[in-house]
Amino acid sequence: MKKLVTLLFVCLLLTGCSRQAQATVYYMNTVMPLDIQGPDAEEALQAVNCLLRELENTWSATQGNSIPGRLNRGEDVALSEAEAALLDRLDALSQRTGGTFDPHLRSLSLAWGFCHEENQGEDFRLPTDAQIAAALADPQWDLGAALKGYAGQEAADLLDTMDIDRALLNLGGNIQTYGEKKDGTPWNVGIQNPDGGDYLGVLAVEGTASIVTSGDYQRYFEKDGVIYHHILDPETGYPADSGLRSVTVVCRDGMTADALSTALFVMGLGEAAEFWRGSDDFEAVFITDDGSIYATEGAALSGCEFEVIAR
Ligand code: AMP
Ligand code: MG
Repeated sequence: MKKLVTLLFVCLLLTGCSRQAQATVYYMNTVMPLDIQGPDAEEALQAVNCLLRELENTWSATQGNSIPGRLNRGEDVALSEAEAALLDRLDALSQRTGGTFDPHLRSLSLAWGFCHEENQGEDFRLPTDAQIAAALADPQWDLGAALKGYAGQEAADLLDTMDIDRALLNLGGNIQTYGEKKDGTPWNVGIQNPDGGDYLGVLAVEGTASIVTSGDYQRYFEKDGVIYHHILDPETGYPADSGLRSVTVVCRDGMTADALSTALFVMGLGEAAEFWRGSDDFEAVFITDDGSIYATEGAALSGCEFEVIAR
C-alpha cells in the first residue's frame, strides 16, 4: 500500500487586491499547512508543492531512489555541484556541533525501529548493545534532522523569486516565515508544551526566518515504563538523555535551524548555552525535564515565566 498520500486542499481567497492561497500537503511523513499571500499566491503554492515533493524524492533516505538511498546502498552516484555542496554543508554542521548532529545515523535509527519505509511503518524495539555498536559502526545517510528545515529555506528562496508578500509554511512543526505580516507586527510562533495541551509561550519573530523545534514528545515509544524517543546521542547510541524535553531554534537559515535544534537537544542545557555564546546566528528556547523554560537573550519569548541565558 502506498504510504505517502499527498493531501492538497487548495483554498484561494481574495484579500483586497492581493491573493491568498492555502493548502495542506503531506510530505516527509508530515502534514504541512501552507499559507501564501501575494499576487502570485496560486502559482507559488503549486511551485512550493512541487518543490517539497522533489526535495523528498531527492533527499529523504526512506525513498529508495533518493541520493541518500542510493549512497546507502553503496551505489556510485554522480552528484551535481549543488548536491555535493549540500552533503558538505551537513558534514560541516556535524563538525560545528561536535558530532551531536550526525547525518549518518540511519542504521542506528533503524535499529531502534524509528523508520518510515514505504510498506514498513515504525517497528519500535530495544536494540541490544551489540546491535547498537554494529549500527554505530555502519554510517548511513539520514537527513531527517535537517531536511524539513532545508525544505523551508528552499521554499522561502523560491518565494523570493515570485511576487509574494508573505507566507507561513508549517512543515510539521518546522515553521518557515516569509516576509512581514500585513499589520506590521511580528510573526507569533507557539512553543509547544511537551506534555500536550496549550502552548507554553509565544516566540515573536521578525521577517523571514526558520523556527524549528526538536522534542522528545515528537516520536517515541514506551517499554517497561521507560520512554525511548527518536533523538539519538551519537556517542552512546541511545536516545539523548540530556535533561531536555525540547529545544526551539530561531535562525535565518532553515537547515542550520533544524540541525541545531537536534544538536542542542543532544548537548543539554549547559553545553548548548556555551555553544550559543560561541555563535551569532541563532537564538533558542529550552524546556527542561522539570518543566523549566530558558531562553537566550535575543529570543523574543513571552506568555510564560523563563530564565534568560545571557552572553
Ligand atoms: P529532529 O526532529 O529534527 O530533531 O530530527 C530527528 C530525526 O533525525 C530522527 O527521527 C532521526 O531520523 C534523525 N536523528 C536522530 N538523532 C540524530 C542526531 N543526533 N543527529 C542527526 N540526526 C538524528
Ligand atoms: Mg532537527
